[in-house]
Parts: sequence; structure tokens; C-alpha cells
Amino acid sequence: MLEYTLSIIKPDAVERNLIGDINSVFEKNDLKIVAQKMLLLARRDAEIFYQIHKDRSFFNELCDYMTSGPVVVQVLKGKNAVKKNRNLMGATNPENAEENTIRKLFGISVEKNSVHGSDSDKNAKIEINFFFSQKEILD
Ligand code: ADP
Ligand code: MG
Repeated sequence: MLEYTLSIIKPDAVERNLIGDINSVFEKNDLKIVAQKMLLLARRDAEIFYQIHKDRSFFNELCDYMTSGPVVVQVLKGKNAVKKNRNLMGATNPENAEENTIRKLFGISVEKNSVHGSDSDKNAKIEINFFFSQKEILD
């Protein structure tokens, strides 16, 4: 099924000049980047984006980290894009991530794990709308 998913290249990866390497993984795996922009997340936006984790012990630290430097937010399009991107990303903790996944290759820690990807089609729609207007998606 043709799908769209939201990806974020997180501050640790932007800082280490990994935007190109990560985008190359998407493109080599038939995920098309149909929208992309670099921004500094406002604290309030980080809190809203991660509100599902608001009661977790790491929530504050996660919001600090996600606002600590520029991120690249992007919309990826492709067959089964949500699941495909989650597979390319690997497990949340880079130590547990499968070989050749983005998090295994580039992640530093369970927090600084280089990328975000939507975890369901429903959340993909919500997350894409959070960052992009329809006219920014060049499809
Ligand atoms: P995923 O990004 O794989 O969907 P989660 O939704 O569980 O993972 O967590 C969101 C983000 O919160 C993670 O990508 C990571 O940056 C951070 N995180 C998750 N678990 C921890 C933890 N135990 N300690 C610190 N940060 C965490
Ligand atoms: Mg998640």
C-alpha cells in the first residue's frame, strides 16, 4: 500500500553531518522524500509532539535533547512507508538495533538515536499535519 510517513533526523545526526547518509538510506530503499525542512523545535512543540511520553521518566530530557539543535523533518512516500521506515531505522536502543539499520550505524544512545519515524499510519497522518501544510508536500 502506498503510504506517507513522518521522519525526523534528530539533533545528534544533524550535528555530525549525517543528513546525506541518512537520506541516502531512504532513497536507496525506494522511499521518496516528498517534503523536507530544517528547523529548531520550540520547547512547546517538542512537548506536544512527544505528549504520549509525558509521564515517562525521560520526557524532560527528551524534550531538552530534541530542542538542543536543528532537526530535519521530512515526509517519506513509498510502498508500506511506515513499516519500511521503522525497519530501516532499527530498534529504539542502537545497542539492540539490527545490523545496517540507521540507528545501529549512526545512533549514540537510546536517547540520541538519530532518527524518528511514525509508528502507524494513523500517527503518520497526525505527525505530518503537525509539521507540514499540504502545499509543502511535493508529491
Ligand atoms: P521510537 O522512537 O523507537 O518510537 P519511543 O517512541 O519509545 O521510541 O521513544 C521516543 C524517543 O524517546 C526515542 O526515540 C528516544 O529518543 C527517546 N527514548 C526512548 N526511551 C528512552 C529511554 N529509556 N531513555 C532516554 N530516552 C529514551
Ligand atoms: Mg515512538
